[in-house]
Amino acid sequence: MKRIISSDFDRTIAQTFTPRPGGIGVVEASARALDQLLGSDFGHRAMCKIREPQRLAPRELVEQAIRLGNRTSLMNSARSFIATCNGSLEQYVPVGKGIPLKWNEMDPFPVLTETFVRLKLSHLMDQIGGAFDRGDLWPLPCPGFLEFWKAFLELKTGSCAKDDILDFGIISSGHDKFIERCFHVWGVQCTELMVTDDDMRSEAYAKFAPEERAKPHRMVFDALCRKLPQPEFFHDHLHKNGNAVHVGDSLCADGGLAKNLNIPFVWFDPHEELTGSPPDIFPVTDWKQLLPLLEKKSLAMLRKGLPLSQVLRTILNN
Ligand SMILES: [Mg+2]
Repeated sequence: MKRIISSDFDRTIAQTFTPRPGGIGVVEASARALDQLLGSDFGHRAMCKIREPQRLAPRELVEQAIRLGNRTSLMNSARSFIATCNGSLEQYVPVGKGIPLKWNEMDPFPVLTETFVRLKLSHLMDQIGGAFDRGDLWPLPCPGFLEFWKAFLELKTGSCAKDDILDFGIISSGHDKFIERCFHVWGVQCTELMVTDDDMRSEAYAKFAPEERAKPHRMVFDALCRKLPQPEFFHDHLHKNGNAVHVGDSLCADGGLAKNLNIPFVWFDPHEELTGSPPDIFPVTDWKQLLPLLEKKSLAMLRKGLPLSQVLRTILNN
């Protein structure tokens, strides 16, 4: 029986919300993108008023920003801007993901979001790999992630006996090319298993409501399962039998996803107040705490059919 670890990216794998000195982070890049799309300094003013913008999926952020201004004049600015793009923002999203930058008067939010994402990436991609004074590269990996990831890769592709019981996928409201470049500058192979906002903006998901296309809705996890070999098998059995776990920093988005799937939640670097006593929450502050999951003893337990939550409880003494 195959098991899967799914993980959030921002603030769980990479410290993307901490800009390097002199550089810009995700929040500033978002403000600049909204300025370009919606006119003058509107984006910066809106970003100051939006609560915890880093926690919002791109579409939610665009919708909240537009609610803060004069809709007609903002739409006019956006329509004019998009008409001038002419393929200049093509490179930021993989072919087949996202949508074309074509204005749609009846439903402008998909193209507004698409343009916003591409503009944000145009500001951010060059930041990746920028050096801090002490030589570290932006963005820093979250504590222990590289150690965990190298051990995982060794397990999957190393010279020792290959173990195929565990898979690792990313579920993020971020973007493929950004995530891939972060792994590249860290000098490690990126996971091929990934569902990002780029997937969720694409035509294949256009018929679903925006809230269904983001965490905590389970559709993002189902989309990840569809990318696995034998998708039907995983889709039907993964979460039902305790064969998956989700790791993330947001109690609402990531914890909510785990709750909706009825799978254990590894709460990375908890900084929110936990209310009540929900089952199957495992707080960790460093990915190294999960390294024992990749050791022989744990893998043997998983192979015997023990649920991931039980194995996690054993290794984290929870
Ligand atoms: Mg996060």
